[in-house]
Parts: sequence; structure tokens; C-alpha cells
Amino acid sequence: MQLQDIIPDKGRLFLNNEVPEVYKTDYSYQKVAKVHAVARPNTTEEVMGLVKFANEEALPIIARGSGTGVAGSQVPINGGELIIDVQNMNRILELDEETMTLTVEPGVQLNEIQTFVESKGYFYPPDPGSKNSTIGGNIATNAGGMRAVKYGTTRDYVRELEVVLPDGEKVTLGSLNIKSSSGYDLKNLFIGSEGTLGITTKIKLKVLPLPKFKKSVLLAFQSLKDATNGVLTILQNSIEPTALELFERSTIEYSERFTNIALQSQKGDAYLLMTIDSNEEETISRKLDIVKSILTNQALEIIPLLTQEEEEKAWFLRDNILVALMQFTEFEMLDEVVPINKFAEMINYTKELQEKHGLKVINFGHAGDGNIHTVLMKEDLDDVTWQTKRKALLDDLYDKVAELGGLPSAEHGIGIIKKGYLEKMRHPVELDLMRKIKNAIDPNNLLNRGKIF
Ligand SMILES: Cc1cc2nc3c(=O)[nH]c(=O)nc-3n(C[C@H](O)[C@H](O)[C@H](O)COP(=O)(O)OP(=O)(O)OC[C@H]3O[C@@H](n4cnc5c(N)ncnc54)[C@H](O)[C@@H]3O)c2cc1C
Repeated sequence: MQLQDIIPDKGRLFLNNEVPEVYKTDYSYQKVAKVHAVARPNTTEEVMGLVKFANEEALPIIARGSGTGVAGSQVPINGGELIIDVQNMNRILELDEETMTLTVEPGVQLNEIQTFVESKGYFYPPDPGSKNSTIGGNIATNAGGMRAVKYGTTRDYVRELEVVLPDGEKVTLGSLNIKSSSGYDLKNLFIGSEGTLGITTKIKLKVLPLPKFKKSVLLAFQSLKDATNGVLTILQNSIEPTALELFERSTIEYSERFTNIALQSQKGDAYLLMTIDSNEEETISRKLDIVKSILTNQALEIIPLLTQEEEEKAWFLRDNILVALMQFTEFEMLDEVVPINKFAEMINYTKELQEKHGLKVINFGHAGDGNIHTVLMKEDLDDVTWQTKRKALLDDLYDKVAELGGLPSAEHGIGIIKKGYLEKMRHPVELDLMRKIKNAIDPNNLLNRGKIF
């Protein structure tokens, strides 16, 4: 048996030196290893055939979607990998309005899902900035994004998963039932497992009725501290924001330079961008009035984004922060999370580390759920100085995350770049249990070898 017997079309199989460059690079700038082949299956049966082939040839396997992962998880590190790129499996199969579920293949992109369901009056809430990422990748990383503060993460919207296991057999996990107390929840175990346990080939997603109205508001603050205090004030006053994003002026400036668009406020050092949704317009107006009254003394400026154009402009700037950073400097982006009452302490500590280590540190993040994207900027530093300062700062930063009861990754995954820090923040017995589960499901360690642990 050869790979060509499973994937007969030339344009869907790339062997050794034919492997396109895109599979050899990654946003997190890792050095990648030489791969055996890249295959682009069209069907679950082809995925099963590929996994069985990999078993016979003892090839490590990596499942891959759009490749937007930022933890090095989709990167070949061992050498000789078979990459199974599921982007051709990109059909939206069925919207079942009775069970309010959408059946899709794993290569469908997030923006296609959102556009499709919204055109039918439904809503798929998870909203990572990378709208071109695939739903298979979102499930593998339990992607979060902007609306997690109100609606939760990808895990909360998966009813059923069809998965090809490491031996090449397929299984369906979960069900259409809203409740289950019927044995271990294997579906949730596979969600967020970063492609180490199985390859997702079909998904039934939960969708909601589309909220009828939404409005956004931009709040400018004198200091980062004032903005983080503002986050707690909003959360404690029953505003229930759909999204509550924080960014510093020094962060949004990159996006302004890249997009050539100015944020509606140029005052202060930090901002909150918030959306509120509801089925009643009056509820939104009432909540916006509350925001104004509780934050008038804390904020420098409160700007309701009244037109769709104004709203889209502010969110476009926010969505482009990461892409903008990529144009200007090498950097390392983190996605630490701390309990919400420790958010202000954590984010302010990153500024202390900037002074201590002499390395520029900027922040943005999903403030409403305690998830910070701290970014370490290389700028003009030479490689040796950058690596030395970076390591020292990261060690201090993750010690603080651990002290505050936080975790190294809220939504991007551990991949290869946070492995050491996971060890620090999970109990050894818990880590040992995770390794035993991996070993029970994938005894030959074929799937995404060397990731997470
Ligand atoms: C500009 C930008 C903004 C981003 N914003 C956010 C954000 O707001 N929130 C957030 O959570 N993330 C964000 N991300 C990170 C990234 O987009 C997510 O991790 C996304 O879920 C990855 O999807 P992907 O299709 O690109 O997967 P890939 O990068 O191809 O793979 C990521 C992981 O998923 C596994 N995988 C992929 N497909 C499958 C499958 N079918 N079966 C099993 N495993 C699979 C891979 O093996 C790998 O471990 C952002 C990234 C960028 C570049």
C-alpha cells in the first residue's frame, strides 16, 4: 500500500520535497522538521485510510486546519510526519432547526459558519479573532475569542463529534441530547486536546437564535489600572456584556498604523471596547445608561458607537491587533488566564516586568474572562539579548500566574511553547493522569507527538 493508493489525485498529496512552504512555517516562529508527506483528504474514509497507513509505516501524524494556531501545535517537530490537512473537508451539511444543530465538516472556516447561520436567523457565538480558522482547529484548541464572557467557548457549542482514532477506526462521541449523565464525557475530553487523541471529521454544533439587537461602546481611561478597575465595575453591575475587550494605546497603535484607521478615541493609555446584545432595544439603552452612570468618574471618555460603520471600524481595529504586530516586529504572544479578581494585579505586574527586564511589554485581552494577551516585543534587540531577556521575563511572569491561581493558556493551547509552564501549574498527579489517558487512546504515540507534554 502506498499513499497514492489512498489519495490518488496529484493536487492532494505532496511527498517529501514537494511539500509546500506553508506547512513549514508557523506564527510562533518555530524551527520545523522535514515532513514525510502532506495529504488533503476529501472524506472520513480517506482520513481512516491515511491513519491506518501511518500505523503500518510508524509515521507520526499531525492533523491540520488553517494553520493559524499560535502555540506551535500544528508544527512538525519530530521529522518524518504525515500531515493530514482537512481543509478540503469543508461542507456545511445540514441545519436542523428542530434540534438547533448545524452539521459541518472540520475544514469549514469560522466565518463561513457565522455567515451561514446568521443568514438563517441563528447565531454561533464563539468568535476568535482568526475568522479564517477551521472549526476542526477551533475544537482542537477549544478556541475562545471575544464573546466568551457571555456565551462561553467552543466546547459549549459542540453536541457531537465524529473522530478518527489513532488506530484508524472512527467513533461518534456525544449526542443530540441536551443532558447526559451516562458515563464518562469523552467528547469533552477530545475538545481542547490539540489533535493528540483523534482527528475530528464531522461535527454537530449547537446554534442559538440570533439576538435581535446589539450595540458597542468605547471607553477611554487615563491608565491601565483605571481600565482594569472599569472591568470589575462593569461585571459587578449586571451589564452582561457580549464582549469586553481591553487594549492599551501602545497596542492599538500598531493596528492603527497597519490599517491606516484611527480609533474613535485618542485619549488616555487604555481602552475597553464592549458590546451588549439583547432581543429588546430598550434593554440595551438601559444598560448603556448604567455604564455611563457607573463609569463617568473613572473614564476619560465614553463613546457609544451608534452606527454599524462606527462599530465595525472599532472592532476591525481590535481584530487586526495581532496581524498588525506581525508586520512590525518579532514578538511572543501569551494567553495567560487568572481568576477575574486577580486580572488587574496580573496585568499591572506585566508592566513591572517591563521595567525589571528592559523589554517592551504590551497587553490586550478578553478582559471579561480574565484572559490576557501579554505580548513581549523584540524590536531592535539582537537575538541573544532577546532570548535571554524573554526567558527571564517569562519565568517571572508564569510564576506570578501560578501564584494567582491562573493557567498558562486560556484558549490557544499548550502546543510546544508552553509545555514547561504547564508542568508548573498542574499537579503532578493530574499531569500523570493526562499522560495515562493519552497512552490508553494512542499507545504508539502517533498523534501530534511531543505536544502538550
Ligand atoms: C490573527 C489571529 C487571531 C487569533 N485570535 C484568536 C482568538 O481570539 N481566540 C482563540 O482562541 N484563538 C485565536 N487565535 C489562534 C487560532 O486561530 C486558534 O487556535 C484556532 O482554533 C486554530 O484553528 P486552525 O484551523 O488554524 O488550526 P491549526 O492551526 O491548523 O491547528 C491547531 C491545532 O488544532 C489541531 N487540529 C486542527 N484540525 C484538527 C482536526 N480536524 N482534528 C483534530 N485536531 C485538529 C492541530 O493538530 C493543532 O494541534 C488567533 C490566531 C491568529 C493568527
